[in-house]
Amino acid sequence: MTLTTVAPDLVIGRNNREKKMYIDTDLLLRMKTWRQHMHRFPECGFDLPLTADFVAKKLQSFGIEVTRNIGQQGLVGVLNCGDGKASIGLRADMDALFIQEKNAFEYCSEHSGKMHACGHDGHSAMLLGAACYLAQQKNFNGTVHFIFQPDEEHGRGAQAMIDDGLFERFAIDAVYGIHNYPGLAAGKFMLRHGSLMASETSFEIVIKGRGGHAAMPHRGIDPIVVGSQIIMGLQTIISRNLSAVEETAVISATEFITDGTVNVIPNTVTIKGDCRSFTEACLIKLEEAMERVVAGICHSGGAEYEFSFNNAFYPTVNHIEQTEHALQAAIKVLGAENVNGNCDPLTISEDFSSMLRVKPGCYALLGNGFDSVGGCALHNPEYDFNDDILAFGANYWIQLVRDQLQ
Ligand SMILES: [Zn+2]
Ligand SMILES: [Zn+2]
Repeated sequence: MTLTTVAPDLVIGRNNREKKMYIDTDLLLRMKTWRQHMHRFPECGFDLPLTADFVAKKLQSFGIEVTRNIGQQGLVGVLNCGDGKASIGLRADMDALFIQEKNAFEYCSEHSGKMHACGHDGHSAMLLGAACYLAQQKNFNGTVHFIFQPDEEHGRGAQAMIDDGLFERFAIDAVYGIHNYPGLAAGKFMLRHGSLMASETSFEIVIKGRGGHAAMPHRGIDPIVVGSQIIMGLQTIISRNLSAVEETAVISATEFITDGTVNVIPNTVTIKGDCRSFTEACLIKLEEAMERVVAGICHSGGAEYEFSFNNAFYPTVNHIEQTEHALQAAIKVLGAENVNGNCDPLTISEDFSSMLRVKPGCYALLGNGFDSVGGCALHNPEYDFNDDILAFGANYWIQLVRDQLQ
């Protein structure tokens, strides 16, 4: 993880210009209706026929040209104004989670076992609100791309859109994204340049020994003993292979599965787990070190192994110039006192990271609130996106467009 602190001019508190607001009460009311409609009919993964249709039709009703089926059910709305050559990509995710909602409000999920428990309904509504305003006012000079992606939750949607030519088919200079964040006051905003969020990688180690009678272990190769040594060996990687000041990572073994029973030494042990890191260089180091530990211990115990390291999310690494643009836009609409330009990195993951690997950009977090409204954790069956932050997010998008496309 890059621990370089941000330059002093990126730190909050230096700018107390008047807050600018664009979204009026009428549009806010419509955004709230859109958000609650999407909440009522959640869809998951790449399978978002109703949601993609809803979003596409809204964009078209604003007079925005829409291209559908990019990365399966992803879509892009394009809005031009003036003769400016600059362009920007604003991204929202549309997918929900396979969770049974436990809320009781009137716009609760009507799709059993599916729920917007990560606020992607809110992200889509905020971006639709900004699109509606910008299409009406046309008070910028250049091209805005409204990117609505599927399957963020499994880390596949952004990459699917990229693989389907997102950045070849649309000339996009830089990309930006927002996630709501429970536990941060409604309307507060935080970001940082460099590593904002961690990677997420699962691993699986299969140890092949030779099972047999529990009373005669010398006749076999006990994969439980080998596996136990491997788990302890993995613990040394963070402390012995990573720099204490420059790199941070997590390795957690979360499952230990055997085919043994009460008096039977098993043939195989499978260890599964999860890794987090803040840079791709660190991720490579973890993979190499883990396989070295597994291979060495298996060799010493006479066992064979299979090792797989499956990356689901890359680290989310913000670019410095775009972080400054995002910071300035947020300060204008939220006030400097509400914007933290040097927040701590987070160990959660986000597939917007895939877009940041190929385009400069910035991901930021918008407070969803504390307490009963907005304070419930993401991915919890009682979570709900806080409609009081819809205007904050949309105003940020509009300000960013107006600042970048002049
Ligand atoms: Zn989520
Ligand atoms: Zn999310």
